[in-house]
This record gives sequence, structure tokens and C-alpha cells, in this order.
Amino acid sequence: MPATACPGHDELLAYTLGRLSDVAADDVAAHLGCCPDCQAELASFDDLEDTFVAQLRRPAPADPYQAEPQWHSMPFPNWKRA
Ligand SMILES: [Zn+2]
Repeated sequence: MPATACPGHDELLAYTLGRLSDVAADDVAAHLGCCPDCQAELASFDDLEDTFVAQLRRPAPADPYQAEPQWHSMPFPNWKRA
């Protein structure tokens, strides 16, 4: 039996997304190591993660420098694009 209570769905999801603190992530990782139920739930996030993370990444922040009109008149236009 796991030594600690199962983390909630939200906590597992946060763990999957790397949003937990190091200490909290360690706790979840330790729990996962001995809890098949949570391992199964984590595995079920695979598809969810694909879409969820993709949505998070979709509005990929454009290079803020390119968004500034004056950037285009800088003497070294390729400076930020390399
Ligand atoms: Zn568990």
C-alpha cells in the first residue's frame, strides 16, 4: 500500500505538466512509485496532455522584438533571428 494518500486529479495533472514545486513533485513521484492506481491515472493523461499542452503552446508568444515596429528599422535586422 502507498504510504501517502493519493494525490488528487489536479495534482497529478500539475505534476504531469511540471507545475508542482520540487518538494510536491517529489512527493507525487514517490507515491507513484508504489501506487498502481495513480500510475494508471497518470498514463491516462497521455492523450489529454497531447491536446492540453498543445493548446497551452498554441498561442506561442511571438518574438516581442518582432512585434515592435521600430525593430524593423534597426541597423541589424537579422540580429534576433539567428
Ligand atoms: Zn495513488
